[in-house]
Amino acid sequence: MTQSSNEHHPRGPAPDRSRIEGALESLYARYRVCDEGRIADYIPELAKADPGCFAIGIVTVDGEVFEVGDAESAFTIQSLSKPFTHALALADRGRESVMRRVGVEPSGDSFDSIIRLDASNRPHNPMVNAGAIAVTSMIEGAGPGHRLERMLDMLGRTMGRRPVIDETVFESERSTGHRNRAMAHLMMNFGILDRDVEEILDLYFRQCSVVVTARDMATMAATLANGGVNPITGDAAVKREYIRDVLTVMHTCGMYNYAGEWAYTVGLPAKSGVSGGIIAVVPGQFGICVYSPPVDERGNSVRGIRVFEDLSRNSGMHVFETWHQQGRVLDHIDEVRDPAPALPDTTQPVGDATVHKRGSELDDLTNEPASRAMPED
Ligand code: GLN
Repeated sequence: MTQSSNEHHPRGPAPDRSRIEGALESLYARYRVCDEGRIADYIPELAKADPGCFAIGIVTVDGEVFEVGDAESAFTIQSLSKPFTHALALADRGRESVMRRVGVEPSGDSFDSIIRLDASNRPHNPMVNAGAIAVTSMIEGAGPGHRLERMLDMLGRTMGRRPVIDETVFESERSTGHRNRAMAHLMMNFGILDRDVEEILDLYFRQCSVVVTARDMATMAATLANGGVNPITGDAAVKREYIRDVLTVMHTCGMYNYAGEWAYTVGLPAKSGVSGGIIAVVPGQFGICVYSPPVDERGNSVRGIRVFEDLSRNSGMHVFETWHQQGRVLDHIDEVRDPAPALPDTTQPVGDATVHKRGSELDDLTNEPASRAMPED
């Protein structure tokens, strides 16, 4: 189930593997039976995902790997790619140039909101689709092929193997992604994009169609936790000076219109993707990925949110808990005994919930409860 790829633990004694494995096993058992959420189907190919698929993976900065469930099941990376392309654009263009085109403010809107660019006609941040498309357009290269190659090279270094693209998912999104296309044209109008719109969208849709596993994504998150160096291969994959930028934007914007509540309950820089992955980073310690395709109306994995809420409850994982006084989070991870209680839902599900099919189903959707019921006391 698990493997150790590094005998040496420069940051102290090796974590107790059996305690960590036990904690992951019990979280897996607790939420395997959860049947809430629905598979996103606005990209038709995504609808084929298996709702029962469920994996949790952890990779530490020392290269230790812990995993449970379907950690080798393949899925397309979707928005989990966004922090990494943000880092590449920052390395290519510099902070100032990127910020001139894309802000760093949480939008409070859905991931694919087209309602407003900010006051200066920029997308709010690089984690929502509009901002991510703008960021992808800033990747340098001699031509479309070279830009794709550079992006795949960077993603490959962070995951530790050569990435492949799921061409069927790519075609599925390219032929149906009219909303992203509309956003791109709007940004072209504002001068945010300065290359051919279809070329930029092709690169963005390919970026979203890169095939990954929970283990890959935990490694990619661990690379961010480890100052940009892949802890398994030792490859300097992401420029260290931009890790701070990327983690900050993940912390404030990575979970879209759930970012505030996530920061409150889980308290980690994170990113979700509509195919059902959530990654989070415990800086200097480890990266973690939960994969489970059914998503809520905001496009965040339901099991993923539950697992993170429970993990963060007692382990000192929340960045504003004094984990530095308690030592390593992984030394406390099996203190996760009870499910975290649900908070009252303070948001209304919006009519423009776009992760599931629109039209006749929308009425049903808006009547669905936005989150699990409050426990009875
Ligand atoms: N490719 C998807 C899109 O652009 C990514 C969205 C997501 O994962 N939230 O709509």
